[in-house]
Amino acid sequence: MIQASISGAKPPTMSFELFPPKSDAQFATLQTTVDRLAAFRPEFFSVTYGAGGSTQDRSRSAVRHILDRRLPVAAHLTCAGASRDAVKETIAWFRRAGVAHFLALRGDPPGGLSERYAPHPDGFTDTADLVEALQQAGAAQVTVSAYPERHPQSPDWRTEIDVLKRKVDAGAVRAITQFFFDNDVFEAYVERVRSAGISIPIVPGIIPIHRFPSIRDFASRCGAAIPTDLARRFDGLDPASATHGLVAAAVAAEQVSDLMARGVDAFHIYTLNRSELPEAVCRIVGVAAETEKTACAA
Ligand SMILES: Cc1cc2nc3c(=O)[nH]c(=O)nc-3n(C[C@H](O)[C@H](O)[C@H](O)COP(=O)(O)OP(=O)(O)OC[C@H]3O[C@@H](n4cnc5c(N)ncnc54)[C@H](O)[C@@H]3O)c2cc1C
Repeated sequence: MIQASISGAKPPTMSFELFPPKSDAQFATLQTTVDRLAAFRPEFFSVTYGAGGSTQDRSRSAVRHILDRRLPVAAHLTCAGASRDAVKETIAWFRRAGVAHFLALRGDPPGGLSERYAPHPDGFTDTADLVEALQQAGAAQVTVSAYPERHPQSPDWRTEIDVLKRKVDAGAVRAITQFFFDNDVFEAYVERVRSAGISIPIVPGIIPIHRFPSIRDFASRCGAAIPTDLARRFDGLDPASATHGLVAAAVAAEQVSDLMARGVDAFHIYTLNRSELPEAVCRIVGVAAETEKTACAA
């Protein structure tokens, strides 16, 4: 059994990732998604963050919405392509808004993952440097990323684990993984991490497959392998069909259940700002919605 997470809670603890909406209509969808998923009492919602002014403003609005709903939030923050002063200003804005939990990230190089990463001349040297700055700014929790199949730019496993260790030594208290579909790969990764003396919770990132062709493309960019057996389940299925949704819910719930059987008790769900599949997964694996709990208690 792997010691992936230490929260010990049963049923599992969930966190839900959102991305900044691009329009008023998308913002309304995000609000509905937050409302529906809040019923599962997540440990936190997180909101992604990208380089570039308009995305950052939208991230701030989404974070502000979650804070206004008095729900726990983690703000993602990247440091690629930005000066130290600019990132510090953003940290100060989030702190003033009431954010105490950050997901510290380097971010992709401006030209994408095919470009070699170089820090901004006046910027943070790496993610560990950003983690330190967040601690100095009074963050209560700093979470970081982890890559069970290695980051696409990783030269070797030793570097991969060293980078995680530096982030932990700088103060990170939890790592959330890139999504993956093969639980054996995750288990082997956690063993590597533990062998390196890293003891923070490694929370698996789970992506429900809302549309197989999109997730297949996304996975190939992120370096996440799609097992043949998994691809076969979606073979010939119309992504808009009800059957696709049923298969997607079953596949994600099966992955979570298998990880629970291996001792994992906390999960981060990449929601893609949709509530249906995350809700289905929660219900299938035994995370009850608040209304049901209230009804049972009455
Ligand atoms: C949970 C999660 C959330 C994310 N959220 C966002 C988001 O909100 N916005 C966004 O833009 N992106 C996001 N990303 C993507 C992320 O920004 C990219 O994968 C980026 O390329 C790496 O950032 P990082 O903080 O993961 O990098 P790090 O963990 O710091 O490094 C990534 C990898 O690069 C290699 N590396 C790093 N430093 C060195 C070095 N000195 N020498 C050699 N190799 C090195 C290592 O292989 C290392 O594992 C997220 C990823 C995950 C897993």
